[in-house]
Amino acid sequence: MNQAYDCLVIGAGFAGAVAARELAERGGRRVLVLERRDHIGGNAYDLPDQAGVLIHQYGPHIFHTSNRRVFDYLSRFTRWRDYQHRVVANVHGTEMPVPFNLTSLELAFGKEKAAALEQKLIAAYGAEKKVTILELRQNTDPDIAALADYVYENVFLHYTMKQWDQSPEEIDPNTTARVPVFLSRDDRYFQDPWQGMPLEGYTPLFRRMLDHPNITVELGVDARTRLTLGERGIELDGAPFTGPVIYSGAVDELFDCRFGRLPYRTLEFRFETYPVDFWQSHGTVNYTVSEEWTRITEFKYLTGQELPGRTTIAKEISHAYTGAPEETPYYAIISPENNALYQRYRALADGYGSLYLLGRLAEYKYYNMDAIVARALELCDGLIRKEGE
Ligand code: FAD
Ligand code: UDP
Repeated sequence: MNQAYDCLVIGAGFAGAVAARELAERGGRRVLVLERRDHIGGNAYDLPDQAGVLIHQYGPHIFHTSNRRVFDYLSRFTRWRDYQHRVVANVHGTEMPVPFNLTSLELAFGKEKAAALEQKLIAAYGAEKKVTILELRQNTDPDIAALADYVYENVFLHYTMKQWDQSPEEIDPNTTARVPVFLSRDDRYFQDPWQGMPLEGYTPLFRRMLDHPNITVELGVDARTRLTLGERGIELDGAPFTGPVIYSGAVDELFDCRFGRLPYRTLEFRFETYPVDFWQSHGTVNYTVSEEWTRITEFKYLTGQELPGRTTIAKEISHAYTGAPEETPYYAIISPENNALYQRYRALADGYGSLYLLGRLAEYKYYNMDAIVARALELCDGLIRKEGE
């Protein structure tokens, strides 16, 4: 059979770009990448706005990982700016570190009471330990229980209701566990050993990753207009396609939502530019008790861009995803029921043998960038080994 390409990759975000590069370079395959948007990078895409401020169009992205392979791999395509992300919660006008830590404790309760609570917490859980809010709320010591109630009410409850339209008890416990109570004075949002921002931004990183003689990228193409998943197997442009197809979009869409839509949350980003050097105190401020937005990010903190007298912020407002074309599904809503629906779609995909679901949407998981890179590398390890056998 005379196929112009050996592999088809759908989506040019981290899943698609890493897979394409691996198959092209390590596997020696000719790879076609189809991307629906008019740019590469997926949700990590960045660009200068009208004021010249480097912004992340689909929400703030900070790279962090404890996976050496992932860090080394991406380091082939970018140098890094050392950036340690710090977030504060605005609690009735007082800014306190998030994750809620020993500094937050002092800000909330005053030095003396905080010292007594600190002793109790460390006796119960150990110094430098991370405790999820749901675990902390199980503690029966009256002082710790009162503290847990405070953190629950002032950090988690309203933010979670805004983000998910559900309470912290109703959502998947792994979600709130991402932001534990931290018995430490380390006020960084992430403690991973490798953390930072691509020195020139994410888009140049993607450009380099996709720049390979075996890779062809077509932008502005919805793969569903070129791909047929039928009884006869997989077809590309009307002809059978026998090579691996890696799909990184939403799996329900791939099958025309035939079992119903998988639920997602979408976000609205309100970008605002101000004629000042800096507009807020930290890279991200979480609005945990007030406002309709969950958080505000000021990009210059993240990127380190030097641009006096101008800055751009983004307010994030979460909504239920309806499937309208202008909306992006950003967060899978993990629950036993939704996971079961996902598995029905997954079984359809698995039926084709050469169709691989890879990515945050395609796998219906709450994956950070590094997890997707790791998954893409592992999938390609397997594919390259399989075809080499
Ligand atoms: P995506 O980046 O979504 O890429 C999928 C691509 O497929 C898209 O470009 C899409 O247009 C394309 N596509 C879909 N369907 C089709 C089709 N039919 N035809 C052609 N193309 C198609 N992670 C971190 O590690 N740190 C962070 O700070 C961080 N912040 C985040 C903030 C927000 C608001 C969000 C939503 C996520 C954040 N993440 C962060 C997670 C990160 O965005 C993901 O892990 C990563 O982007 C997933 O890459 P992906 O390739 O799976 O998906
Ligand atoms: N969360 C919260 N208050 C905060 C920060 C986080 O309640 O100040 C909860 C909320 O449910 C959120 C989850 O923890 O959805 C995970 O937060 P994270 O910052 O990891 O979310 P992401 O950056 O992925 O949107």
